[in-house]
Amino acid sequence: MRNVLKAVCISCGAAYEAGEHTYTCQHCGGVLEILYDYDYIKSVFTKETLADRDFTMWRYRELLPIEEGSELTPLRIGGSPLYRAERLGKILGLKKLYIKDDGLNPTSSLKDRASAIAVVRAKQAGMDTVACSSTGNAASSLAGNAAAMGLRSFIFVPERAPAGKLVQLLMFGANLVSVKGNYEDAFRLSAQAIEKWGWYNRNAAVNPYLSEGKKTVSLEIAEQLGAALSGSRLASGKPGPGFGKPEFRVPDYVAVSVGDGCTIAGLWKGFKDLYAIGFTNKLPRLISVQAAGCCPVNRAIKSGKPLEPMEENTIADSIAVGTPRNGEKAIRAIRESEGITVNVSDQEILASMRLLGSSGIFGEPAGATGLAGLRKAAEGGLIPEDALAVSVVTGNGLKDVAGAQKAAAELGQPISIPADMELLVEEFGRRNIRP
Ligand SMILES: *Cc1c(COP(=O)(O)O)cnc(C)c1O
Repeated sequence: MRNVLKAVCISCGAAYEAGEHTYTCQHCGGVLEILYDYDYIKSVFTKETLADRDFTMWRYRELLPIEEGSELTPLRIGGSPLYRAERLGKILGLKKLYIKDDGLNPTSSLKDRASAIAVVRAKQAGMDTVACSSTGNAASSLAGNAAAMGLRSFIFVPERAPAGKLVQLLMFGANLVSVKGNYEDAFRLSAQAIEKWGWYNRNAAVNPYLSEGKKTVSLEIAEQLGAALSGSRLASGKPGPGFGKPEFRVPDYVAVSVGDGCTIAGLWKGFKDLYAIGFTNKLPRLISVQAAGCCPVNRAIKSGKPLEPMEENTIADSIAVGTPRNGEKAIRAIRESEGITVNVSDQEILASMRLLGSSGIFGEPAGATGLAGLRKAAEGGLIPEDALAVSVVTGNGLKDVAGAQKAAAELGQPISIPADMELLVEEFGRRNIRP
């Protein structure tokens, strides 16, 4: 990989050659970070390069840790829409609010961006089996991407994983292991199995290449904001070449939900990459949103103390991570960005799902958590009303129908009657519904 310089341990600084097959630091067990040769990238990747590329994550391949000419996944990953959300903005008290709906990826979550890197790298390395543990979305995403590439997958999930995610796994033909225990237990068993059988490891917190895939969400946000502010059709995420020379624009704030911490760390890396290659001249402030019942990353930042495990007590299963595997990277990213931490209750998460729903966007609980935090930050006066703010919806509502039913309970029961016009008129009257 000409574009990658090396991998460096974020704890002890040990450096590894780009091609070396290592996941975590061999000296201290710390998490690695991929460093790029930005001078080389600048020589082969310009805004003109982008002009006639499809709007998928591979649009930015010079910024990704894959060999030139690698076989890419055939699924359309990335290129999700960025919506200007005027009505929601009014409710939140934000004049320039945008929603990036990443629930519209092939397996319906942002995790596809990481899984795509995993399967491309696994295939390139000549491996035929990939594996991970996950609260659900990384799992279904890896299974789908593996299926698309003709790879086998072994997936470990905690037994509480929602049915929508499990059925995806089965449909994609994964070997599914439901572990009696929590996410931590599933993670531990998967690590032992991966070690024993030598599968490709898609545990994002361990494999430093994966959050590099997640960073493409920031690259898209900046390019789509640039397009939106100049009136181009790229803003709505319509795929296809012919956008002309793109402009990039960095938001003031980006709000996203945090579990293991790979997503927010990847998000930050994307904005830093754009800055490093001279496409942009500023960086956003991150808003790290966690559930009040499971907020170890935000708690560590607030208290200035090391990360301590917490119970996993929230409806937002995708971010119910009591022992964040990439907490250090996340904390560093939030601090570097002079970010804000916000904890939200399950009630606030459910309200945020209804709010998104009222604009035609369906997010799973963790998918709507970012917006819940942004709302709280705006209402608490932590961010100014004229800030350019983006909230990332990280997963689709159909992933977790039981969660969505809890959010919908407050919206009332459907009318249930025989096919009789008189009864319909009567029922409308009783419920004060204007036909
Ligand atoms: C995984 C996930 C997150 C959080 O990402 P981390 O890397 O674990 O912090 C948020 N929302 C959804 C829907 C997810 O699947």
